[in-house]
Order: sequence, then C-alpha cells, then structure tokens
Amino acid sequence: MADTGISRRTVAVIGGGAIGVAAASFLLRDGHDVVLIERGGIGEGASFGNAGCLNPSSIVPMSTPGTLAKVPGYLLDPLGPLSIKWSYLPTLAPWLIRFVQAGRLDKVEAQARALRPMLDDSYGAWLPLVRNAGADDLIHRHGHLAVYRSQADFDGDALGYRLRRDNGIAYEVLRDDELWQFEPSISHDYKIGVLFQQNGHTVNPNRLVRTLAEAFERDGGRLLRAEVRGFVREGATLKGIETDGGLVAADAAVVAAGAHSKKFAASLGDNVPLDTERGYHVLIRDPETLPRLPILDASAKFVSTPMETGLRMAGTVEFAGLDAPPNWQRADYLLTLGRRLFPGLAANYPQERYTRWMGFRPSMPDSLPVIGRASLCPHVAYAFGHGHVGLAAAARTGQAVADLIAGRPPAFDLAPFAPTRF
Ligand SMILES: Cc1cc2nc3c(=O)[nH]c(=O)nc-3n(C[C@H](O)[C@H](O)[C@H](O)COP(=O)(O)OP(=O)(O)OC[C@H]3O[C@@H](n4cnc5c(N)ncnc54)[C@H](O)[C@@H]3O)c2cc1C
Repeated sequence: MADTGISRRTVAVIGGGAIGVAAASFLLRDGHDVVLIERGGIGEGASFGNAGCLNPSSIVPMSTPGTLAKVPGYLLDPLGPLSIKWSYLPTLAPWLIRFVQAGRLDKVEAQARALRPMLDDSYGAWLPLVRNAGADDLIHRHGHLAVYRSQADFDGDALGYRLRRDNGIAYEVLRDDELWQFEPSISHDYKIGVLFQQNGHTVNPNRLVRTLAEAFERDGGRLLRAEVRGFVREGATLKGIETDGGLVAADAAVVAAGAHSKKFAASLGDNVPLDTERGYHVLIRDPETLPRLPILDASAKFVSTPMETGLRMAGTVEFAGLDAPPNWQRADYLLTLGRRLFPGLAANYPQERYTRWMGFRPSMPDSLPVIGRASLCPHVAYAFGHGHVGLAAAARTGQAVADLIAGRPPAFDLAPFAPTRF
C-alpha cells in the first residue's frame, strides 16, 4: 500500500447506496481498512431507481419564494407532482415549517451557492471511480434538456435561471423548430427547451453503484451484509458498530444510510430534521421512442432518461413517511404524463415491458445534505440527506468524507452542511 501520510483507521461505512459506496471507495484509496455495511442489496435503496442525472445545474433548492403558492394547485391535480398522505401531516409538520422558512430569497441564494461546488462537474467527479471499476460505459455527458409547454411556464422558473447564471452555469435556450430538431422524440406541444451541455447521466444507477462496490471489494474493501443497530463508544472514542450479526470493530465511521440516517445522528447528539420525499418511476422496455439525453418536463416535473434497460420516467414527491405502502397510481401517472411528452408511446404495456418502482429520497428541508462530524463522536462523519441530487453529489461527497476522516481540508466548504445548523 502506498504511504499516504494518513493515520490508518478501521472505518465502517453504514449504507451501500451511491453515497456510501463512493465514500467507502475514496476511504479505501486513502489506505484505510474499510468495511461497507448494507442490510439489503447494494444500490437498492433510493440509488436504485432514480432518474440517473448527473447535473451540476441542479443547484436550485426545492423551497423557493414561489413554492408555497403552487402547493394547492399541485395537490388538487391528480397528475400534479406533489401528494401528501394526510395522516402523515402531523409528523411532517415541523419539517414543513422549516421547508417554508428555507424558501426566503436570501436563504435560497445561499443554498444555491453552497450546492454549486458539491455538484460541480458531477460527471468528471465520478470518472476516477468509474474508470477504476472499468465501467466507463455507464456514464455519459450528453447534456440535459428541460422543456416547457409555454412561455408562462418558462417565466415561472426565472429565479432558477437567475441562480444558475449567478453561479456560472451555462445553458442555451432552444425554441420551436430548433428544439424539435434537436430532440425529435418530443411533442410539438413543447415550445421551449433549455439545454445544459455540461450535465451527464448514468444509463443504470443500480449497476453503477454495484459495479463500484465490486471494484471496492476487488481492491481490498470488505462488504458486510448486516443491519446496523448503533454505535459502541467510550466517551467520544468510537469502538465499534453494533449489528444484527454482532460487533464490528471500527475506530471511525460514516453514516450514509440515506433516509434512514436520522436515528443514527440522534444517538450521536445531532437532532437533524431528516424526512423523506418518496418518488416513483416507470420503466418501459423496448420503448417506441427513446430520447438521446435525459429530458426534464419542467411543466409537469418529471425526468425521462434513456437507460440501458429502456425508457425510465421518474419523479413526483409524495410525503407519506418510510412505512406506508407505495401508491402505484402515482407511478402510473408518470406514463400518462410521459405520453404527452412522447406521443409515440403506447397507452398500456404488458407486464414484461413495464416495471414500477418507489424509493425514499433522504430529504432535508433546506435542500442541503448533512456532511460533517458527529457532535458526540468526531470520528463519525455524516453523509446523508442529499434529496433530489444524491447521485450527482455522491462522488464529491465521498471525497469530502474521506477528507474529514483523514483530517485534510475538504475541497469545498462544508459549513453550510453542518449537522448543527438547525
Ligand atoms: C424518483 C427519483 C428520482 C431521482 N433522480 C435523481 C437524479 O436524476 N439525480 C440525482 O442525483 N439524484 C436523484 N434522486 C435522488 C437520489 O436517488 C438520492 O439522493 C440518492 O440515491 C441517495 O443516496 P444514498 O446513498 O444517500 O441513499 P440510498 O441509496 O437510499 O442508500 C442508503 C442505504 O442505506 C441502507 N441502510 C439503511 N439503514 C441501514 C441499517 N440500519 N443498516 C445497514 N444499512 C442500512 C439502505 O438499505 C440503503 O441501501 C432521485 C430520487 C428519486 C426517488
């Protein structure tokens, strides 16, 4: 092993999603003894079924000054991008209050500035891990297209484009013929497109995470299938991780359990307002039409991505917590919406060509993840709460976590992501 000048630790990474696998991979590169603990299949949490976008342009927080006013309209429209299970509302209320508070203009500007370096050149940030795994075929930089049905819809996103311009994110506006020639698969009901040329995507998020985990194991990392129950400490010193399969010795750890991370942070003195925005996808195998690049229907708020397995349409936000069963109608609506964007698609598909999925975005009310040291145990680092951008942010987050464990200054300012910011 190369001498990295870093004191070698035994690091347990909790959670085998995009964030955990990226963190484990960078920690291994630093020469640590790393064990990645996952209770289910690697990459089968939120990281399984997302839209695959690696978008530096996704710096616009979910809560903005105009968001609240749109909520009633969203909730009344069965095809709208938002739904709430009303019995979950009392549990969600404190999170919602913080969400609304986070939407003040000065806060939104600060959130966008904080997200900018974490999402910067997301495709390029993934490359070292992807190349090491021999999986270059899994990520591409073909750009990302946001499309609108009307000038009014486009104008409604003016703040988002202002934030992008302020943060140096380039885009090009395409109108009518220019748009339809650029992407012939879409309906001519869409009049305006915004092309982000620097954005990338993966053609299979699950295979990406699994392939990186295989490379991690090949390079000397350990994969352990177990359910983590808690930490064993002596004061501020970590001694190990308690799992359903026994104690795992560790003198450092990373909490990357996605939407399930809240209880781990609470046990280390950090009461973070983590909840989940549930999302859905439908995947059509052998679709009649396939776009060349991911397309965000910015009017209906879902993304259609050309995957190696077919056409995936992903999106929607559902507040219903971690325990309620999926509402598959939310997924089927995505096909209804998808047919407006791609008139070539069929109204129905046989089971073997149509799959549906639901997953739990790990969501913070201010759209910023939690990346930083645990209050009661400085050798435990948090890396969760990435909401809508966890795949795009995973590589840079993984590197930042490795920096924290090594005692190196991270490449971007982690102060806005502090667990103690609330
Ligand atoms: C519909 C949809 C579309 C999306 N589109 C995009 C997109 O285009 N681009 C983008 O960047 N992001 C997107 N996202 C968000 C992205 O998927 C998430 O932010 C990201 O996957 C979070 O990764 P994670 O590793 O934190 O969580 P996860 O992938 O959920 O991983 C956490 C892991 O921790 C494990 N775990 C939990 N508790 C324990 C325990 N006690 N013991 C052991 N293991 C445990 C879980 O089993 C899980 O595998 C989308 C999300 C959804 C739902």
